[in-house]
Amino acid sequence: MDVLGTGGSVPAPDAVGELVCSAKGCRAEAGWGLLWNNPRLHTPERRKVWLACDDHREHLGQFLSARGFLRHTVPAGELDRQEPA
Ligand SMILES: [Zn+2]
Repeated sequence: MDVLGTGGSVPAPDAVGELVCSAKGCRAEAGWGLLWNNPRLHTPERRKVWLACDDHREHLGQFLSARGFLRHTVPAGELDRQEPA
């Protein structure tokens, strides 16, 4: 049962710019940045960013942690263009 509604879909990773939650269909203002890395696709120092509102921070964090991708969660105000698109 897909309680969280992920449906296997993955939010776009390059949504930094306007601070809108990266969760699919969510247009809430993002308060958090989830920094992640897929070792199969990215060099170790590379960080992709998903933005998350308070409601989706845990949801997206679990999505990434389950795959071993999540590195850090930081307040969106601290992102400061760490990862230009
Ligand atoms: Zn959201």
